Amino acid sequence: MLRTHYTSQIRPEDEGKEVVVAGWVHRVRDLGGVKFIILRDREGLLQITAKRGVIPQELMNIADELREEYVIAVKGIVKANRIAPKGRELIPNEIEIISRPISPLPISISSKTDIGLDTRLDYRVLDLRRPEVLAVFKIQSKIVEGFEDYLREKGFQKVFTPCLIGAASEGGAEVFPVVYFNKTAFLRQDPQLHRQLVVISGMDKIYDLGPSWRAEPSHTPRHLCEHRGCAVEMGFINDEQDIMRIEENLVTRAMLKVKEECSEELEILEVNIEIPSTPFPELRFPKIYEILEEFGKKIPFGEDYDRESEVILAKYVKEKYKSDFFFVNRFPFKIKPFYVMKVDEDPQWARSIDLIYKGLELSSGGQREHRYEKIVEQIKEKGMSLIGLQWFTEFFKYGAPPHGGFNLGIERFTMQLLNLSNIREATLFPRTPERLLP
Ligand code: ATP
Ligand code: MG
Repeated sequence: MLRTHYTSQIRPEDEGKEVVVAGWVHRVRDLGGVKFIILRDREGLLQITAKRGVIPQELMNIADELREEYVIAVKGIVKANRIAPKGRELIPNEIEIISRPISPLPISISSKTDIGLDTRLDYRVLDLRRPEVLAVFKIQSKIVEGFEDYLREKGFQKVFTPCLIGAASEGGAEVFPVVYFNKTAFLRQDPQLHRQLVVISGMDKIYDLGPSWRAEPSHTPRHLCEHRGCAVEMGFINDEQDIMRIEENLVTRAMLKVKEECSEELEILEVNIEIPSTPFPELRFPKIYEILEEFGKKIPFGEDYDRESEVILAKYVKEKYKSDFFFVNRFPFKIKPFYVMKVDEDPQWARSIDLIYKGLELSSGGQREHRYEKIVEQIKEKGMSLIGLQWFTEFFKYGAPPHGGFNLGIERFTMQLLNLSNIREATLFPRTPERLLP
């Protein structure tokens, strides 16, 4: 039997229609004369009602055999029923048992139990069967769809830049080395430099959806060793403001998409999405030092701020502008990578932006330096090797437009949108310092 419908596609108006559904037995309830089999598929639940004496005995025997998590396909006739979930049920004509569990399940699927996150992740494949977990990933899929809808409409092309790189792009010890024949390669920390090269190659407006890796032995609820980003890059901009406009619209579009197309999942997760108004507020260095000081937080002039500052600024913005989002612009150049563009008139600061959502960094980006001599100067200023970066800098000799972009963390966005307390909940199979399985 081949599935004709997901459960969500069956409505009371389909009364009388023959359909085939397939999935797992979520729950069985036996009231003696009638048996309710709740079938679960990716899209939700459906009640299958088998009345003893009404349906053939052979079929009843199969129904009697069903236990939780049996995999079944059912052909039947849709019936409207006001007291059934979503006002409809299925009267079976045929039940096929496709697979029977051979061992009891280590975690419960149908009941809401308080299992620790670590145990859930050990049994992630089963954990994902729980509707409230599945909902997170349906929403994540829609977020990315929303990003892509927007980018496609705006004329961005999707590209695939390399994950294996010959040299660590941002320096630092946070890269994973990989044995590469008789050399060492590295897993990218960001598709950054290749994105820039693609833009100056002439492709102009591009995005890359893909993983990055951080060899950070950190155990925060916000960090993974492998995460995914929506990385956008665009040429022929006036300045970083153009990038901010793209970014806020991208985020808003994804939120709209989720709000419109995932109402059931949002209900399961008890999340209400408020579509933010644009443009998002923008805070700038060095003014940020003053704001922080007002809140009793002293950051030395010219230095980076910390995690606590992000939270303080978020509170400030929420009160002053009623926004969950804001940009931070003009970071000190000295804390940013060599490729960012300095403000020509005030070169201590860079056209470097972060997007903060509910007090957490969602993305970093900004305008990049496109002038060959300046790039070389900045590499020297950072004490990096010009030869080591020649593969990148070389191409800025041959004509490069002003450009910029950002990389927005997909798991971070999912986590903040759905108020999840740990980024691992927004990751199918999280990679953390202590976890490489399953
Ligand atoms: P943070 O300061 O919050 O650790 P970062 O500045 O190191 O982040 P970027 O290099 O700016 O991160 O990466 C771009 C985006 O990718 C971040 O804004 C974030 O959304 C996401 N990201 C970066 N590192 C991680 C990580 N270890 N786990 C999950 N997401 C990450
Ligand atoms: Mg950052």
